[in-house]
Amino acid sequence: MTAQLPPDMAQKILAGDRRSLARAITLVESGRADHRAQAAALLEQLAGSGRQALRIGLSGTPGVGKSTFIESFGMMLTAQGLRVAVLAVDPSSARSGGSILGDKTRMERLSRDPMAFIRPSPSQAHLGGVARRTREAVSLCEAAGFDVVLIETVGVGQSETLVAEMTDLFILLMAPAGGDELQGVKRGIMEMADMILVNKADGDLKPAAMRTVSDYAGALRLLRKRSQDPEGFPKALPVSALAEDGLQKAWDEMTALATWRRENGHFDRCRAEQARHWFEAEVREGLLARLHSDPAIRAKMQSLGDAVAAGQSAPAAAAAEMLGLLGA
Ligand code: GDP
Repeated sequence: MTAQLPPDMAQKILAGDRRSLARAITLVESGRADHRAQAAALLEQLAGSGRQALRIGLSGTPGVGKSTFIESFGMMLTAQGLRVAVLAVDPSSARSGGSILGDKTRMERLSRDPMAFIRPSPSQAHLGGVARRTREAVSLCEAAGFDVVLIETVGVGQSETLVAEMTDLFILLMAPAGGDELQGVKRGIMEMADMILVNKADGDLKPAAMRTVSDYAGALRLLRKRSQDPEGFPKALPVSALAEDGLQKAWDEMTALATWRRENGHFDRCRAEQARHWFEAEVREGLLARLHSDPAIRAKMQSLGDAVAAGQSAPAAAAAEMLGLLGA
């Protein structure tokens, strides 16, 4: 990547130029200080575009059918004239350096669709970096005029929380299961879900899928009613990504929920809270980055840490001294 951004980068993204969008996402993935500065400037230029996509988070364990679902669901949406972007938050890529999500080869038909844009998860050192890259990539896709941004994640660790914090709707994709397996879903994840879709509701698996739907529907009813939900939500619904069954119904429910939240002020309030949260996260990350990048600050961290470890200083007092040096 060249050090300098082309001056018309923002215009090209606003005009929906895919190559510029891809390049801009590469830019926001970079940790280099000059790239960060360029990315921040570009995002600021695009902030006023006023464009808003429906941001949908989709989580599910490997094998549940996420890529099959995204392909079928995405193709259905593009056939209706909607532009669809697919991004991925893949905690495994942080560990292994390789991504198992958002891979174009997993969604062959959709990746060839001119109305769709698929971006695999980058390998990043830590989840925080992936989170920042993803929420910035979402902003870029919105500015480029996408109507729906799907963010895919595997059901591992904190990645669901991260994705839920950057989306308007959070969908859990589940497999048909026996009743006792229901217990395996963590309550916290159930509470984040706006909708549970039980996939593979086809062929021999259909009866089990229908039972699983009613099990989850029952479990969801037991959760506290949330103020941002209309009557009947969160819902559990059957789908078959393979047979392309139930997808329109799922989409209708998603748009009904989003519309209700828009009309009741929850949509904008939630986005405002998310924006504030990201701002605060940026400040925190910036402070941490300074701790690690400035040699004098790093040396002071080390010496104060040594003093604490040796029992010569109390942790709280040493921390206060350090924060004082940072101007925090
Ligand atoms: P991912 O790991 O969550 O992305 O799952 P995949 O989309 O790769 O699907 C895993 C396996 O489940 C593949 O063999 C798919 O063909 C199969 N699969 C996905 N969706 C369905 C479905 O709706 N019905 C059935 N019967 N199989 C499905």
